[in-house]
Amino acid sequence: MRPYVVAGNWKLNTDVKSAAELAMGIRDGMQGRHRDDAVRVVLCPPYPMLGVVRDAIAGTVIGLGAQNMYPEDSGAYTGEVSAPMLRSVGCTHVILGHSERRQYFNERDAFINKKAHQAFAHDLVPIVCVGETLEQREAGVTSSVIDIQVRQCLAGLTAEQVRRMIIAYEPVWAIGTGRTATPGQAQEVHAAIRALAAELYGDETADALVIQYGGSVKPDNAADLFMQEDVDGGLIGGASLKPDQFLAIIAAAAERSGS
Ligand code: PEP
Repeated sequence: MRPYVVAGNWKLNTDVKSAAELAMGIRDGMQGRHRDDAVRVVLCPPYPMLGVVRDAIAGTVIGLGAQNMYPEDSGAYTGEVSAPMLRSVGCTHVILGHSERRQYFNERDAFINKKAHQAFAHDLVPIVCVGETLEQREAGVTSSVIDIQVRQCLAGLTAEQVRRMIIAYEPVWAIGTGRTATPGQAQEVHAAIRALAAELYGDETADALVIQYGGSVKPDNAADLFMQEDVDGGLIGGASLKPDQFLAIIAAAAERSGS
């Protein structure tokens, strides 16, 4: 059975002190619970806070993720951060192609694909984000937009890699807006992504692929979203900055998984 993965994307928030407090709050709230494989939790703070969060979650099952990376090991790329650097600081995961990176930093699928290959080359689990804009949804082209994004972001990856990665479906119009996709809208796109994975890699790989939903997930809508057959957890922005809310979302995933 696929695990549920609940990841917190802290975006451009926290400092060393508040990041440590937030990570400790989540760690303490999870103590003695969810230590099985059915629900996995990953915290993705900004780069400068990775070390302090790593220390706060040391010895727990919580994973550490970065919010981005550059697809080269090293070199003259001022201001960038590499996969080996992320590994050396203790990262297990990395978010790639978040819609804010696509929107503000002009990231395109081919570049995100390069990063995904680089993540696997350094044993990082990529969380690859895809999603349509409001204009695209209203124009009725959601499925073709998602189809192209998934095909291009996964290009050249092996079935074994796809079984280990995570795809986050994040409708752009739902991120940070308080406007969530209905469970039915989420399920429809998740099922289409899984069907595409089956077409490209076979049923076994598609069945193993974790597909998170992201976009204004809160404690009061998490359970309904996680009830959907193809929704395997969430990529959580705003609510991941509040331990009680993030813990409630983790609890919703745990309840759904029966753990
Ligand atoms: C995100 O940052 O990926 C996200 C989904 O944000 P929010 O939960 O705030 O909509």
